[in-house]
Amino acid sequence: MIPGIRLVLLGKQGAGKGTQALKLSRHYHVPHISTGDMFRTEARSGSDLGRELKGYMDAGELVPDDVVIRVVEKQLSTGAARARGFILDGFPRTQLQAKALEEVLAPFGGLDAVVSLEVSTEMVVKRLAARRVCPKCGANYNVDELPEANICENCGDEVVQRDDDTPDAIRRRLALYEEQTAPLIEFYRDRDLLEEVDGVGDPQEILDRTVRALDARSRS
Ligand code: AMP
Repeated sequence: MIPGIRLVLLGKQGAGKGTQALKLSRHYHVPHISTGDMFRTEARSGSDLGRELKGYMDAGELVPDDVVIRVVEKQLSTGAARARGFILDGFPRTQLQAKALEEVLAPFGGLDAVVSLEVSTEMVVKRLAARRVCPKCGANYNVDELPEANICENCGDEVVQRDDDTPDAIRRRLALYEEQTAPLIEFYRDRDLLEEVDGVGDPQEILDRTVRALDARSRS
């Protein structure tokens, strides 16, 4: 096992980033940092910032870069993330965010790798419509395989549909992915950090594929 890892997960909404991030964080014993989960928690708190974030999220728009970068910088300065690394899920989503991340990580050696989960747009649209999530721990479920009484198996909270998994917001989020986030694939390929992983199949199989690719990279 690699002792800790600093990893970014890229992929369209619905590519399985949340599920894989959770599995990878258990595998490598590093924190899972999801900007979407952080923003949803803030939105549930009902604060002014939370209301503002919810407005962007429900419309499928991106939260402004300065807000996102501030939040992530704070998370990355915590002891666990500094000492052992992290799995970043949903960040960066723009060039500006990617450059800010590079600057923050420069003093401690930068990223180890960026995994891009490859799934067709047709498949993610289907997955998003069928997705149910635990608002507390972020675990993902499929509408056809819900846990007993809709209670999350990890934390016991009720599993729900996300407010932004509506047809309009899904369309907007995928358009923004192509426009703003997909160019990061080249950005990270140029830096020799990119691992493209087939994101279709059983989640455990996808984890195994990812870990194999990362192990091979750490040996080379
Ligand atoms: P996610 O859970 O990653 O799909 O994120 C849900 C929503 O949170 C997105 O549709 C955006 O509105 C917002 N969001 C999360 N991460 C970012 C980010 N890195 N940059 C801008 N907005 C973000």
